[in-house]
Amino acid sequence: MMTDSELKRLAQSSAGEWFAKSRRNVDRWGVQDTCTLLAVAQEELGEVAQAFLQATHERGDRGRVLAELSDLGAVLFQILESELKR
Ligand SMILES: [Mg+2]
Repeated sequence: MMTDSELKRLAQSSAGEWFAKSRRNVDRWGVQDTCTLLAVAQEELGEVAQAFLQATHERGDRGRVLAELSDLGAVLFQILESELKR
């Protein structure tokens, strides 16, 4: 069982990685509008669900769940940026 302190440290580390990924996305695609990013977030959430279900029921790679969460987290930072710059 993970302690709150360990969870906090992991969450901060993950947030930093997701933010860095969001910067790479912006470098590649530019600052996209919120409507576009919401569609991307929906797609990424679907990929999280697919990875989770495959890991749980089809002996899929649990690492894919974390990778897809990272994709989703990056897009959420991009949505935040898009909204803050409106
Ligand atoms: Mg993905």
